[in-house]
Amino acid sequence: MESAGRKSGGPLGWYFNTNLLIRILIGLGLGAVTGGILGSVLEGQQLASVLSVIRPFGDAFIRLLWMIMVPVIASTLIVGAASVSPKQLGKIGSRVLCIYVFTSFLAVGTGLSMGFLFRPSVELIGIATAADYTRVAPPLAQTLLNIIPQNIVTAAMHSPNLLGIIFFTLCFGTAIAMLRESGTERTKNAAETVFNFFDGVAEIMIKVVKGIMQYAPIGVFALLCVVFATAGPQVVGGLVMVIVTCFVAYIFYVVVWYLLICVRLIGGLSISKFVMGVKEAFVTGFVTRSSMATLPVTMECAAKIGLPKNVYSFAVPLGATINMDGTAIYQGAAVVFIATSVGHVLTPMDIGTVLIMATLATIGTAGVPGGGMLMLLMVLAQIGLPAEAGTAVAAAYAMIVGIDALLDMGRTGINVTGDLVYLSALTRRMGTLDMAKWS
Ligand code: ASP
Repeated sequence: MESAGRKSGGPLGWYFNTNLLIRILIGLGLGAVTGGILGSVLEGQQLASVLSVIRPFGDAFIRLLWMIMVPVIASTLIVGAASVSPKQLGKIGSRVLCIYVFTSFLAVGTGLSMGFLFRPSVELIGIATAADYTRVAPPLAQTLLNIIPQNIVTAAMHSPNLLGIIFFTLCFGTAIAMLRESGTERTKNAAETVFNFFDGVAEIMIKVVKGIMQYAPIGVFALLCVVFATAGPQVVGGLVMVIVTCFVAYIFYVVVWYLLICVRLIGGLSISKFVMGVKEAFVTGFVTRSSMATLPVTMECAAKIGLPKNVYSFAVPLGATINMDGTAIYQGAAVVFIATSVGHVLTPMDIGTVLIMATLATIGTAGVPGGGMLMLLMVLAQIGLPAEAGTAVAAAYAMIVGIDALLDMGRTGINVTGDLVYLSALTRRMGTLDMAKWS
């Protein structure tokens, strides 16, 4: 998401040449301070009229995120599914696929549990509109049925049925993957052309997301300014709690699930050797906040820890697209924060919906900075909490967006490490891990 080394000139050069992470944090700080000051010196009508000027700048950011969501999910998934060769998939491939999906589910559960344990929230009464509290999520059975869209065009239109889009694009991408290996030259060429087209679309969409993120510091400033002016400085505590909740969940998941259970117990491998072997991938993921950008380093680590080439050559890129445990943990914790902040009590049905939707969301998350934050919009919508501009849900979501860069570092580090954890435990059990690399 950073402006990748190229220096911009012109009057806004200073803006574009400053690291995006730093700009977002400055936007966050300035927004909080400005909002706090406005809230303490202005009152009633005066405050409302000043905020009515600032608010649209934040709403514009939320709208930009909604705007890009469908094209990003659709193109990422089509290319992701179409890249998996059915021949390569075979027995080991389907095992890898099941592990990736099952563990994402587990990671969402961890995020939700930590959310319930720490209960991060802010008091957003005053920003809320009555509508925020009266929305009713559809029953789980209906939500599941909605996975199959009746009409793919309407599914992508107003209040997009994102699950329907995910389902359709996965079918579409899988069909491309099959036809790319067809025996008929004409079909093969046609499938290749469609693949290249969507590959181009996906690249372009990621470029658009990068462009939108250049606006993030201003959007975050305006969104947080409104929150702080209306709800007061006490929201800082809630924000700190979200960071604490996510990082405790991340650390717990890595230490207990990854290292003790998967690496040591299931794989029977040395934890310290594993850590030494994968540290470059973790650190690169942490600093770049992109699983995709980290891919070459993850591949290198995969070779270093002795994974067989025929496994890691397809399972690591596949993992960079669909195996995102860090993102799953974040989704669970963020949903608890947002729901609690707007006074929405999560029912067992909501929790079931979040477990399924967030698992699907991680599959559709692009491995770029902020990809998970985009998908959080979808998960929230599925439990009847759409983050529409001007609502309390959007205000709570805005607070998450403000600190997203920090949360993204931890979750991306986990996302890239997860692939290596599962593949080493699996290949060790199958007897194909090169143990010479572990001595
Ligand atoms: N940045 C993450 C990744 O690339 C995705 C996310 O935002 O959750 O893995």
